[in-house]
Amino acid sequence: MPKLVIVVHYHEIWLKGGNRRFFLSKLHMALKRALDGLPVERILRPGDRLLIEFGEGASVEEAVARIERVFGVAFYAVARVVPRGGDDDLATLGRAAWEEVRGEKFSTFAVRSKRSDKSFPHPSTKIDTSVGQYLVDQLRVEGRAARVKLNDPELTCRIEIPPGPSLLVYARKIPGAGGLPPNTAGRMTCLLSGGFDSAVAAHKMMKRGAHLSFVHFWGGGARPGESSVHVARNLVRQLVPWQLSAKLYLVPFEPIQREIVARAPEEFRILLYRRMMLRIAERIARSGRSLGLITGDSLGQVASQTLRNMAAVGDAIRMPLYRPLAGDDKLEIMAAAEKIGTYAISAEPFHDCCPIFLPRNPALHSSPEELDRAESAMDVEALVRQGIENMATERYRYSAGRVEKVESFKSATA
Ligand code: ATP
Ligand code: MG
Repeated sequence: MPKLVIVVHYHEIWLKGGNRRFFLSKLHMALKRALDGLPVERILRPGDRLLIEFGEGASVEEAVARIERVFGVAFYAVARVVPRGGDDDLATLGRAAWEEVRGEKFSTFAVRSKRSDKSFPHPSTKIDTSVGQYLVDQLRVEGRAARVKLNDPELTCRIEIPPGPSLLVYARKIPGAGGLPPNTAGRMTCLLSGGFDSAVAAHKMMKRGAHLSFVHFWGGGARPGESSVHVARNLVRQLVPWQLSAKLYLVPFEPIQREIVARAPEEFRILLYRRMMLRIAERIARSGRSLGLITGDSLGQVASQTLRNMAAVGDAIRMPLYRPLAGDDKLEIMAAAEKIGTYAISAEPFHDCCPIFLPRNPALHSSPEELDRAESAMDVEALVRQGIENMATERYRYSAGRVEKVESFKSATA
């Protein structure tokens, strides 16, 4: 008999159409990878849920901590495991169900069983009524007023009869990470600054099944140990478990900034930094077969994020640019950062490459033509190439519950 069983439910929404098998196998694979190193005995897929059976030495806390970061999971539950094949399986189920719900507060309930092993002698309707009746009796003994309600009950006590020596009972649902199973949507490239916003933006797109690579631009007068690179690395490490692996590109940006400072009008500097970042990221994205770029821009948050400025900046590239936080408030973004564990990392002091050479009066409303003109004294293509040539690449992988750096080529000088 398994020592621990966790039942995982997913939303049906993404199963519409012919994608069912594809999404389910991705979810199955992600769970397997997430639980790597734990004593998983088997993962069953009886119909519309997954049953994960653990053997000797399994820790509930560890398993739960891993499953929490698997997208595509709507909710999950730690099941009570009872032996099958005694004198009276229905009575065993009744007692286990009572143990399971007794401590819960509810005024209406239902019992729902799934018999994926058809050799079990009782049909599910029989299990439901028998266990339901037992619960009603026990509730009455305790003087509690709860009653059966099949349509939208406050508490659902679920029973699973999988093939094998055990019966499962669970009633306490834990909300999962939601979203679509990881790595089902295609690739994207995120401009990751080290601040709060871009990490949250990345997480939102990962949640919809995108597999992200990250580009971080560093430099701009950092003294040793002050650089933003360690913050970017820690953010990537924090985000990787949700998508299992990721690349981080580190681009030294100071030489490019100096060129912009030397050759373009001061008021447009920030916008031109952003344009150069997008161009370099687009180049990286194309070579990695990404289908879109992501930034953490939020409408009106700073001068460079007015609608006109975002349009003027975005005009520098052809690849679709996604700004998943465009309509979010800073407070919502901070709360999200807290929830996904990037808040404390982004809150670390670091030397952002942008404040240096900051204009005194940044343009609030530019246009693509104005920015084109502002760049006319620079060799834009040469600067893009310079960024690409000097970048370092790191690769991270999530395995056995840890994030490890698996490779890095060309030494990061930060
Ligand atoms: P964040 O909190 O993500 O840094 P922000 O509110 O500070 O965002 P900006 O600094 O104007 O806003 O940056 C807007 C977006 O441009 C960021 O969300 C990020 O996607 C990108 N970006 C800015 N600086 C960098 C950087 N050094 N490296 C990579 N991307 C950057
Ligand atoms: Mg920033």
